[in-house]
Amino acid sequence: MERSVSSTDTHRRRSFWGWGWEDEALDDRAAGNIAAAAISRMGGAEAGSDTSLMAAPKVEDLDLPESRVSPPDHLGAIVTADPYERASHTYGKSFRDVLRALIGEFRNAPDLVALPRKERAFADLEALLDWCASNRIAAIPYGGGSSVVGGIEPVVPDDYRGTISIDLRNLAGIEEIDSASRAALIYAGTMGPRLEESLRPHGLTLRHFPQSFEFSSLGGWIATRSGGHYATLYTHIDDFVESLEVITPGGDIVTRRLPGSGAGPSPDRLFIGSEGTLGIIVKAWMRLQRRPVFRASADVRFESFEDAVEAVRQISQAGLFPANCRLLDPTEAILAGGDGNVSILVLGFESADHPVEFGISRALEIARDLRGVCPPEAVRIQNRDTAAPAGHEGAAGSWRAAFLRAPYGRDALVRAGFVTETFETAVTWDAFFDLHSTVTREVKAAIEGVCGDGWIACRFTHVYPDGPAPYYTVVARGHRDPRSRLAQWDEIKSAASEALLKAGGTITHHHSIGRDHKRWYEIQAPPLYREALRSAKAALDPSGILNPGALIDPPPPR
Ligand SMILES: Cc1cc2nc3c(=O)[nH]c(=O)nc-3n(C[C@H](O)[C@H](O)[C@H](O)COP(=O)(O)OP(=O)(O)OC[C@H]3O[C@@H](n4cnc5c(N)ncnc54)[C@H](O)[C@@H]3O)c2cc1C
Repeated sequence: MERSVSSTDTHRRRSFWGWGWEDEALDDRAAGNIAAAAISRMGGAEAGSDTSLMAAPKVEDLDLPESRVSPPDHLGAIVTADPYERASHTYGKSFRDVLRALIGEFRNAPDLVALPRKERAFADLEALLDWCASNRIAAIPYGGGSSVVGGIEPVVPDDYRGTISIDLRNLAGIEEIDSASRAALIYAGTMGPRLEESLRPHGLTLRHFPQSFEFSSLGGWIATRSGGHYATLYTHIDDFVESLEVITPGGDIVTRRLPGSGAGPSPDRLFIGSEGTLGIIVKAWMRLQRRPVFRASADVRFESFEDAVEAVRQISQAGLFPANCRLLDPTEAILAGGDGNVSILVLGFESADHPVEFGISRALEIARDLRGVCPPEAVRIQNRDTAAPAGHEGAAGSWRAAFLRAPYGRDALVRAGFVTETFETAVTWDAFFDLHSTVTREVKAAIEGVCGDGWIACRFTHVYPDGPAPYYTVVARGHRDPRSRLAQWDEIKSAASEALLKAGGTITHHHSIGRDHKRWYEIQAPPLYREALRSAKAALDPSGILNPGALIDPPPPR
């Protein structure tokens, strides 16, 4: 049965300022406990330190700017200026977004929110884009709104007359399944849970699980080249895209379904990662997999982080392709039961077809050769008839549970005065240690310089034969004044981004560019390539109405 997922389900509403459902936000007691635990983990007893919580805002108290534009009659049925909808479409879900929403800062709220209908998807989207192009109104495609890089925030150049957020949540569901080719045609607005629930009766899965899975959409994943939970082989959504149906202001593009093709540069690849700047992805044929039934998992402890990194390098180059190969540094490992001195490698193997004992045994052999410790009872095997899925116990289990609830806890820390955010990258193995030491040194210096106290933790979210994707978490006590706290994070983020680029990493492995990473993307991407992208935009979006300000600059107004 398909479960409807929308920001206003009949019984539940999405939070307009923070993560997830309004009714699952942590209450003051739970939020206070999380703040106290974070302080004690940071080693600061800090008797009397102020952990009072900022109050969650209410829509009726917001001072939203007047809408600058109103829809023509023919769009009246799908466009709203409702304050809850405008507030909900103002921000993504980064630390900066949550803090600005908490203080009621909504001056960039979209003037309008559009909700195109599924049964008239192409007609509604074409009418919206025509109206925006004729009136120089910025049109911002919106999936689940979980961007952490300013991807959907309506900050556009001054010469736009207004902004409209185009929410694709009604364009949801699976239109067709081709079981012979193991692929499905799926609407872009389909959110993670509905997508998987619809495939389950067919024994199929997309097997793409970003941490934001519950509140992000297929179209958003494709538009941002999102990274799933699995560590090797199919890491980004890119590999699952078989073909796309896209509406652009210049016309529609439907690509051919093919398992592979050498016919020139791929048209799908032009739109994968285009962040709503080239077109609106309406549907996609996605490659699917059978649901895994064979699993094996284990946690390996290392006294030395360097040994653990070397073990991961060797495992990633052994052709074993573990589903999980998540290395947690000693600080990160505390959440998975570590004592702050050991690094933990969480290993997992999965298959729909065959037992996976060989893979885990060989990976453990490599890890043990590098002084990794894994007692036999820490290895869990699940074959068809085993009840408990491996990977749901031990360090893997506690890490996974904490992982999925973490965003609600993050909001609690923001309310309690913390600076708390993540950044991520990828780098080749030869440059990893240099990047890691540069990043940790410079980010620690920035934290100490602006906050005085705090920590930075690292884990590998994905690993490739030629390098890892390190993911860093920063937690620090911030200024009680929210604007000063935003400035504190901005300094830490600049230090982190400069360090990443200086040490040869990418500004993002899977969070995308949006508005927040643009100035570093402009250093990373070759100028002539960016020029070519802008030319593609000029052909597809001649009036420059699609998500101006994100990823690439729009052409000048005509
Ligand atoms: C707590 C948390 C955990 C996260 N975990 C992960 C993770 O594990 N892996 C990961 O990769 N990311 C993660 N993210 C980031 C975010 O969830 C991803 O970028 C996700 O892919 C965004 O999907 P969305 O549907 O929410 O898109 P939105 O935030 O709505 O939009 C993102 C961008 O895509 C564009 N867009 C959206 N839909 C379409 C469409 N149909 N056509 C064209 N453009 C479109 C928007 O204009 C915008 O530029 C996380 C974020 C949070 C807050």
